[in-house]
Amino acid sequence: MAKQSPQPDQSGQPNSSGPFGGKGISWIYFLIIGFLLFEISYSFFKSKPKDISLSQFRQEILANHDVEKIVVVNKETAEVFIKKNKLGQGNYTEFKSSQPGPHYVVSIGSLEKFESMIDATQEGESEHIEVRYEKRTDWMSNIFAWLLPFLLIIGLWFFIMNRMRPGGMGGGNNPFDFGKSSAQAFKKQTGSVTFEDIAGLEEVKVEVREVVDFLKDSEKYTKLGAKIPKGVLLVGPPGTGKTLLAKAVAGEAGVPFFSMSGSEFVEMFVGVGASRVRDLFKKAKQSAPSIIFIDEIDAIGRSRGRAASFQTNDERENTLNQLLTEMDGFGANAGVIVLAATNRGEILDRALLRPGRFDRQIYLELPTLGERKAIFRVHIKPLKLGKDIDLDTLSAQTPGFSGADIANICNEAALIAARQGKKTVTMKNFFDATDRVIAGLEKKSKIISDSEKKIVAYHEAGHATVSWFLPNADRLLKVSIVPRGKSLGAAWYLPQEQMLYTKAQFQDRLCAALGGRASEDVVFGEITSGALDDLEKVTKQAYMMVAYYGLNEKIGNISFYDSTGRSEQSLLKPYSDATAQKIDDEVSKLVEASYKRTKSLLIKHRTELDALAARLLEKEVVLKKDLEKIFGQRPTIKEMEE
Ligand code: ATP
Repeated sequence: MAKQSPQPDQSGQPNSSGPFGGKGISWIYFLIIGFLLFEISYSFFKSKPKDISLSQFRQEILANHDVEKIVVVNKETAEVFIKKNKLGQGNYTEFKSSQPGPHYVVSIGSLEKFESMIDATQEGESEHIEVRYEKRTDWMSNIFAWLLPFLLIIGLWFFIMNRMRPGGMGGGNNPFDFGKSSAQAFKKQTGSVTFEDIAGLEEVKVEVREVVDFLKDSEKYTKLGAKIPKGVLLVGPPGTGKTLLAKAVAGEAGVPFFSMSGSEFVEMFVGVGASRVRDLFKKAKQSAPSIIFIDEIDAIGRSRGRAASFQTNDERENTLNQLLTEMDGFGANAGVIVLAATNRGEILDRALLRPGRFDRQIYLELPTLGERKAIFRVHIKPLKLGKDIDLDTLSAQTPGFSGADIANICNEAALIAARQGKKTVTMKNFFDATDRVIAGLEKKSKIISDSEKKIVAYHEAGHATVSWFLPNADRLLKVSIVPRGKSLGAAWYLPQEQMLYTKAQFQDRLCAALGGRASEDVVFGEITSGALDDLEKVTKQAYMMVAYYGLNEKIGNISFYDSTGRSEQSLLKPYSDATAQKIDDEVSKLVEASYKRTKSLLIKHRTELDALAARLLEKEVVLKKDLEKIFGQRPTIKEMEE
C-alpha cells in the first residue's frame, strides 16, 4: 500500500501534564541528578586517608610516638591522626603541615588486640594518645542498597510500558502516556492525497466530499436547520480504497485529522482502550472542527453478544462502550466528524450503526470494468509505458480485482520490466504481473517427475475441457502446468461480472472445479491429493447452495446465513440435528451428482482431453487460440443446451 500520509503535526502529540507529565517530572530528575553529582564530587575531591596495614602502623607510626589521635570507626577501622609537628617531614613528607586528618586508615581486625597494642605502646609514657570510638552509617551505600531493587523494578516497568505503547519502542514519549491515544493529527499540505488520486467511486466521493464541506462551511447547513452527521462508516472488501478516501478527506478538508487504527485501542490492560478513546475525542474536540478516522473499527466495534462472553473480550467491550458514549456525548454540530473503515460491516455492533452515531454508511464495492480502467490510469501514470499498452484488455482481464490489486499489478509489471533490462513497461509485463498476482511466483526450478507432470497435465486439461463444454462455466483464457506459488498448474478464467447466480450456473461451476479430479479418475483410474483446493471450493459452494441460498428442494427456501456474524462465535447451530443430517446428505448428493456429470462429460470429450494434455506436456502453457484449435469455437449457451 503506497504510503502517502502527510507528516504528523506537533499538535497530534499527546499532551503531558500533572506531576508525571513530561515537563512536570523534569525538576525531580534535576534534583536527583544534582544531589548525586554533589555527593560524587565531594567524595572525589575530599583528601582521602592513606590505607596502611596494622603491622606497618605499629612499627612505623605507633612505635615512633607520632600519633596524636585515633578514631575507631564501627569497631572495624581506625583513622589515624599524625601529630601536626611531624607532618611534612620524615615519613610524612606527603602530607602538608596544615592538612587535617585523618592521615591514615588501618583495618584493626580484633578491637581488643588493637586496644592492648595501643596500651602496650603507651606504658610508662606521660603523653597519651586520644582514642575515640564512633559509629558511622554509610548513607550512600545504604540508600543504594535499598533503592536499587526499586529502581530496577521501576525501570523494567517503564520499559514494558514503553514497548506496549502504540507505536512501539521509545519514540521519546512519556511512558505514563500509555492510556492516551496515539492518534496523529494531519493537516493539509502539498503532496497529500486528494480526491483526484481516487479513481472511480464517484457516488462515494460525492458523499465524502460533503463531509469535507460540512467542516469547511458548516453554516451553510446549520442555517437551514440541518444537523451535521456525526459519523460516516466506510464498509467494503480489502483494498477498495477506504483508507485512501479517508486520507483524501484529510488532504482536502484542511482541518485537523486524527487517525488511529481500531487495534491500537486495545491493550492487555483493563481500561486502557476506554481511556484512549476518551483522550482521542478530547483532542479532537479541542481542535474542532476536526475529523477522527478509525481504521479497522471491527477490532473494537464487534457486536457484543452472549456467545462472545466465552472469550476474554471485556476490555474490548469497555472500549466499545466508551466509543458509543463519546459519540453520543458531543452535540450534532460540535464540529467533529468520525470516519471509520471496516471490511466487515455486518459484524459491527448495532448500537454503533444507529443514526446519531454512524449516520451514514457508505458501501464500497470491488471496482467495475470502467472503474478498473480508471484505477489503471491512475497507477500507470508514473510508469514509462510501451506503445502496446491497452487499458481495455487489462481492465477486462482483471475482474474481481480491487484497487490495491491493480496498484500492485502496475508496480509488479514495472519491476518485471526493470528486471529484464527493458526501457519501457510492455503489455507482456502486465500479463506476467497479473499471473503473478493471481497465482504466485513462477517456480520453473521446481523438480517434478514425469509421471507427476502427466497427472498435472491431465488434471488441468480436465478443468479446461469441462469448463469449455459447460454453458455456464467461466470463459477459459489459458492453461498452464508451470508450477506457481503452491500450485503445480492452473487454468485461467475470465469470470463474468454478475451479481446473481442461477442454480444451473452454480452446478456448472461445481463441475468445472471437479474437472481436475474427474480427469485423473477417467484417465488413470486412480485419484491423487492434488485436488485439495478444488474440493475445498466445491464443498464450500455446495454448503452455501444448500444452507444459505435456499437452492435445494429438500431443505427448501430456508437460509441459515447469519449476517450479524454472531453464529461464527457460537458453538450452537441454528438448526436441529435432523436438519444438520439432511444438509450433509443433500450436499453429498449434490457433489456426487456433479462429479458423475463431470466424468461423463470427460468420457464424451476424451479425444480433446488427451489432445490438450499432450499439448500441455509439450508446451507447458496453452493459450486461448490453441485451445480453440483443439476444442473448436466455444459453443454458445444455446448451442450447448440443445
Ligand atoms: P483495507 O480494508 O485492507 O485497509 P482499504 O480499503 O483501506 O483496504 P486502501 O488502503 O485505501 O484500501 O487501498 C490500498 C491501495 O489501493 C491504495 O493505496 C491505492 O494505491 C489503491 N487503490 C484502491 N482503490 C483505489 C482507487 N479507487 N483509485 C486509486 N487507487 C486505489
